[in-house]
Amino acid sequence: MITGKAAVFFGPGKPFEIREVTLPEVEPEAVVIRVSLANVCGSDLHFWRGDAPLRLPPDGWIFGHEMMGRVARLGAKVKTDSLGRALREGDRVAYTYFYPCGRCYVCLNKEPANCPAKIERPRGPSEFPHFNGAFAEYYYLRPGGHIFKVPDELPDALVSPVNCALAQVIFGLQQAGLRFGDSVVIQGAGGLGIQAAAVAKDMGAATVIVIDQIPGRLELARAFGADDTINIKEVTERKDRVNDVRKLTGGTGADVVCDFVGFPQVIPEGIEMLRAGGTYLEIGTISRGAKVELEPAQLVWGAKKIIGVIMYDAMVIPRALDFLVRNRTRWPFERLVSHTYPLEHINQAFADSEWHGRETTTITRAALVP
Ligand SMILES: [Zn+2]
Ligand SMILES: [Zn+2]
Repeated sequence: MITGKAAVFFGPGKPFEIREVTLPEVEPEAVVIRVSLANVCGSDLHFWRGDAPLRLPPDGWIFGHEMMGRVARLGAKVKTDSLGRALREGDRVAYTYFYPCGRCYVCLNKEPANCPAKIERPRGPSEFPHFNGAFAEYYYLRPGGHIFKVPDELPDALVSPVNCALAQVIFGLQQAGLRFGDSVVIQGAGGLGIQAAAVAKDMGAATVIVIDQIPGRLELARAFGADDTINIKEVTERKDRVNDVRKLTGGTGADVVCDFVGFPQVIPEGIEMLRAGGTYLEIGTISRGAKVELEPAQLVWGAKKIIGVIMYDAMVIPRALDFLVRNRTRWPFERLVSHTYPLEHINQAFADSEWHGRETTTITRAALVP
């Protein structure tokens, strides 16, 4: 019987506890992955902080989702990765962490990324397959999960953001209809916003403007391709920030504005920064119950669109890996995972990652090494 360590979450304000969990027999179409790096994503911080009500099972929750690892056990029927390339134990892999059902109205409409069944309730260590999240030594990729071999030239720390932050921003910008020559405003220079700057440039954006309040993050955004940055501590009035965006976009406003902040107060301002006919991409506000006041006439008279995106189509992962291979010397991806911690120090990793309300931070992404 093989066991592995997992960090179990018992609710906001309570410390994670490290538990020894039994690895199940691997089903014929499943894969057990030995997690190499598990990053603390902004959405993990929302759960940890308690920004929205959570219903946890009595035995706690093994969460975390932004990760990469090596194949530890292949199910008997798994011979290849999701692109048909031979897969062996020990191979480094990137993989999805959610499971569209394949048998609902949305899936039948060929929109697996929108499947409502893929959003699962928190699962504890007693529930099969036990290794249900990233903050553990193993991750059990269930049947139907997608898995991709990682190119040798990409170090682990470049790959660990792929299955959440990077895939999310690529898919989001595709869904927003970003086109060659467009102007893009990015609200929030955290892990997603910084990578979105680079992805937007790679997709052909002419102008990328990043907004944040922490100078170190804005400096990093410029290193990742942002043409201009706006510090809300320096430009304190909303109307001045909107004017700045107009000036930087030839007077028209941005084609696409993206929310990667996580607090909905920024949304009306972002919509105001759009050109007539522009698209607002909503990704940041994942906390249920968080509300904001909107002026719908802005959408009508400006013919503006708002689209929400959660997760992505699996095909984005190999494209994200290609993007990294193509651009690994163009932008400093090695700066994205700024700190690593052993799994046992997960409480410290979360405390250090906490940024809300802070003036400065040196943490971009903390990664656990289980
Ligand atoms: Zn994430
Ligand atoms: Zn479905």
